[in-house]
Amino acid sequence: MTSLDELPIRDDLRGLEPYGAPHLHLPVELNVNENTHPIPEDVARDIIESIARELITVNRYPDREFTALRESLAGYLEGTEPGSGITREHIWAANGSNEILQQILMAFGGPGRSVLGFPPTYSMHSIIAKGTGTDWIAGDRDPGFLISPSTAVEWIQKTTPDIVFFCAPNNPTGTALGLDTIRAAYDAFDGIVVVDEAYAEFAPAGEPTALSLLEGRPRLIVSRTMSKAFAFAGARLGYLAADPAVTDALRLVRLPYHLSALTQAAAVAALAHAPEMLAMVDDIKAQRDRMVAELGELGYSPWPTAANFVLFGGVDDPETLWQQLLDRGIIIRNLSIPGHLRVSAGTSAETTAFLDAMRELTPPRA
Ligand code: PMP
Repeated sequence: MTSLDELPIRDDLRGLEPYGAPHLHLPVELNVNENTHPIPEDVARDIIESIARELITVNRYPDREFTALRESLAGYLEGTEPGSGITREHIWAANGSNEILQQILMAFGGPGRSVLGFPPTYSMHSIIAKGTGTDWIAGDRDPGFLISPSTAVEWIQKTTPDIVFFCAPNNPTGTALGLDTIRAAYDAFDGIVVVDEAYAEFAPAGEPTALSLLEGRPRLIVSRTMSKAFAFAGARLGYLAADPAVTDALRLVRLPYHLSALTQAAAVAALAHAPEMLAMVDDIKAQRDRMVAELGELGYSPWPTAANFVLFGGVDDPETLWQQLLDRGIIIRNLSIPGHLRVSAGTSAETTAFLDAMRELTPPRA
């Protein structure tokens, strides 16, 4: 057997670990922040019909500009953030927001350039940085996993990055990010500011997101995904909103026809049913809040969360508790944050199963 080390791989990839969330199939899967609620049947039927219509012409390459999809995504965003002025010219899409982030780093990062992020944050941010040859700079957060405007500005001034990555709400902590921090970071340098808003739909309703800052900020990019709120993780559809010049930059690095005709058709059909697709968001938020309340009652320390998951501290031995839950058919996530585990909000039944197991596994506290 040939080992990886024996291959003439790039020197800067030697010794790195790939993205590694365990992919196990168990009765209760609450480990990768998916939407555990199935797509409503009538919506699924509509999506299938759209895909079927498209299938007849898959001998041809798809619309390289995915115009109909960009129009649908712009309509969806403008609906959630009225007055943001987002049109299809501001939208770009790819196979998941991971690919969006990769394309951003291919265009604006790369060898000799750097990206500043604030761990603990989404593990793929540093992995995509390394994959594109971009230096990853780890900034520090304030207590409570917060990032104040002055902390962001200090790190930018100290490390002079080409790009800053924020994650709002932040994975894995659930922490919200103030728009004042994004504004301050933008004004502190001439580089690109990326706000990864994969979980935006789970944040308190009615509060403005980074989309509201796009006007007049051509170096700001807001990344979104249909994987979470839209229950579309398996379909792979991520997107961004930014100045149209940013989409021109991404056209230089994307592969032609990167979004399949079937993906485009599925996403357009799903977006036409946005209200039904998003109907489960409120239930997920209710299950998340239940987890926060009941974990607190059990003596754990759940962090405030604006996403569809909960990071909780006060775990004496995370590895053992993770394994004990696994033995009961429940998988959550151990991110090696000392004393902590992360759990995604599930359906009511899944949340009950998780909380029942936690009650059973938690010794009474003195
Ligand atoms: N950003 C964040 C913060 C995430 O947590 C995830 C998925 N876990 C992604 C991006 C990537 O999602 P996708 O590629 O499915 O859009």
